[in-house]
Amino acid sequence: MQSIDISSTYHDILSQIRTAEATYGRLPNSVQLLAVSKKQPIEKIRQLADCGHHAFGESYVQEAIEKINQLSDRSLTWHFIGPIQSNKTKLIAEHFSWVHSVDRLKIAQRLNQQRPESLPRLNICIQVNVSLEPTKSGFLPDELLPAVEKIRQLPHLVIRGLMVIPAPAEQFVVQRQQFKHAHDLLKQLQTIVPDADTLSMGMSADLEAAIAEHSTCVRIGTALFGHR
Ligand SMILES: *Cc1c(COP(=O)(O)O)cnc(C)c1O
Repeated sequence: MQSIDISSTYHDILSQIRTAEATYGRLPNSVQLLAVSKKQPIEKIRQLADCGHHAFGESYVQEAIEKINQLSDRSLTWHFIGPIQSNKTKLIAEHFSWVHSVDRLKIAQRLNQQRPESLPRLNICIQVNVSLEPTKSGFLPDELLPAVEKIRQLPHLVIRGLMVIPAPAEQFVVQRQQFKHAHDLLKQLQTIVPDADTLSMGMSADLEAAIAEHSTCVRIGTALFGHR
C-alpha cells in the first residue's frame, strides 16, 4: 500500500481546523485534534508524535495497551473513545488519561472504583445519544442531568464534558442541528459542573459543522493516517 505522508496530512487537518475556527468566530486553538490511531500501526503513531502531536484516541482496549506500553518513552496522552464492556473498565482506568465514551452509570462507577490512587483523577466525557437512535450508545438527553448528579459524586473522576456521535447526515444544516443540540446540553451540564469545558464532537466528514457549533475536540482517524 502506498504510504501516506503523515506530516503533510497532519498539517492539512490542523489548517482545516484553524480555518474553521476563524470562519465561525471561535478562538484560535480552541479546538483540539484527537488523532484516532485505532487499528493503525505503531510506526504511524511515532511519526505523528515526531511532528509534535500528543493526543491519541483508541477504541480497543487490548490493542491500545500494547501501544501505550510500547510508546511509554514518549509523553503522549491517551483517550479511550470506544464502546466499553464492564469487564474492561479496570484496564481502561489503569491506562488512560481520558475516557470519552462513558455511556452508563455503572461504567462510571466502575471506572471510579478502579482508578488507581497513584494516578490523577480520570477525565471523562459523558456520551449522549443526541440523535435518539435506538441502537446507539449514550445517555438520552433527558437522562443526562440525573446521571450527572450521581457521577459528580465519584471522587476519582472529573466530568470534563460531553461526547457525541450523531447520526450521519450529509447536509451541513442537519449536521449543525445535531451538534447544536449537544452544545445546548453542555450548557445545561455547566449549570451543575461549571468547569466542564469539553465538547468532543466532529469527525472527518462533519468537522466544520462541529466547530461551528462549539466543538472543542475533533476526533480524526482515517483522514490523518490513511485507511485502517
Ligand atoms: C474511529 C472513530 C473516529 C475516527 O473515525 P475516522 O473515520 O477514522 O476518522 C472518531 N470517533 C470515534 C468514536 C471512533 O470510534
